Amino acid sequence: MNSIWYPFTQMKTAPCPQKVISGQGAVLTLEDGRQVIDAISSWWVNLLGHARPEISRAIYEQAQKLEHVIFAGFTHEPAEKLAALLLRHLPPSLNKVFYSDNGSTAVEVALKMAYQYFVNKGEARDTFICFEGAYHGDTVGAMSLGCQSVFTRIFEKLLFKKSSLPYPATFEGDSTVQEREQEILSRARALLEQERPIAVLIEPLVQGVSGMQMCRPIFLQKLAALVKQSGALLIYDEVMTGFGRTGDWFACLKSQTEPDLICLAKGITGGFLPLAATVCTDEIYDAFYSDDPVCTFFHGHSYTANPLGCAAAIATLELLEKEPSCFTAMEKRHAPYVERLKELPFLQRVRVCGTIVAMDVKGQEGYFDHLTLRDYFLTKGVLIRPLGHVIYLMPPYCITDAQLRGIYESIFDLHDRFSANALSVVQTPFHLDRV
Ligand SMILES: *Cc1c(COP(=O)(O)O)cnc(C)c1O
Repeated sequence: MNSIWYPFTQMKTAPCPQKVISGQGAVLTLEDGRQVIDAISSWWVNLLGHARPEISRAIYEQAQKLEHVIFAGFTHEPAEKLAALLLRHLPPSLNKVFYSDNGSTAVEVALKMAYQYFVNKGEARDTFICFEGAYHGDTVGAMSLGCQSVFTRIFEKLLFKKSSLPYPATFEGDSTVQEREQEILSRARALLEQERPIAVLIEPLVQGVSGMQMCRPIFLQKLAALVKQSGALLIYDEVMTGFGRTGDWFACLKSQTEPDLICLAKGITGGFLPLAATVCTDEIYDAFYSDDPVCTFFHGHSYTANPLGCAAAIATLELLEKEPSCFTAMEKRHAPYVERLKELPFLQRVRVCGTIVAMDVKGQEGYFDHLTLRDYFLTKGVLIRPLGHVIYLMPPYCITDAQLRGIYESIFDLHDRFSANALSVVQTPFHLDRV
């Protein structure tokens, strides 16, 4: 433990991490024997439960045949099969799959493709439009288009050029959302005209790290129309929203919009192995398709399209295909509990999108001792990691009715804690807790 430097962690002050021994379905077993319901799918990656036998078997079988091979000048069946499977569930205009190995690189690839797309067409563009509160990863390009925070401020001088728009976050019973959307759309129209950006990058329907902020499909439809009209590209970062999270296969399908590029990772392998994909239209692909070597997309990673990752992803997609109700029906399962949440006096802005439910703890905006809350949930046998003052649930699709009830009971039980005013408020920056 002393030799490991943990991500997003101030090693001097952080408490010792909890050691996890095993996972089965939605339940994690800790070293001290405690069992914890994983209500956040282990950092949003685990789709179908831990140790799902179909996926582990697929990896095992692939490992006995071919664990890895260089992906330039060579190819393999798992990569080809997975590309075909992915395209089956994406809008028909998305046609070409470029593999990498994590969400940040999926975004980085999209940004470089978009930039070079205009270079190859002989059109110079050099700026992006993104959204306040966004999170797209920790590589420099992805970080550039994420929101300004204590993390990114340090690197300010290294970042790409961009302009930001507010995210039209809404919730159940929101009466002013339409006006806010209109305001943002008119600012978008102006920016698109003035700056002639390369692309607009957005987390469609649900902005994750900023606290599961949710926007309406109609906003995406209007935004997509504006972007198309302007000649810029539209990039969807569906690293978190992909593979059923929003109640449909992808947020683009749920919102009936078609981006030019889509970034996929996290749930793609069911949470078993690191793998990512950036999928683009023929039009983008064609701008690189040339006799001139300079037009080539010179980008790749050693583990690009790792066959084990592809095998895990194929098994995951086949499981989703076999039983799509595991994600399409989850919103209905949340519904009765959501009605109760709306009545709790210490909560507000309750919101739901497919498998994801989020709520704000009242009066704690911006600064909040989320560590205390996280510990509280652990004592209740639930893994929930609030984002600032936002409590959210993103369970694996295998969650049982009893487990779901247990998770909600732990939130309802907060009532006693809040009425006793037992939670202390400390000065923790809101964004400091993707952890
Ligand atoms: C997690 C996340 C990323 C970054 O993915 P990593 O695999 O952690 O690099 C990018 N975009 C969104 C929307 C994410 O939620």
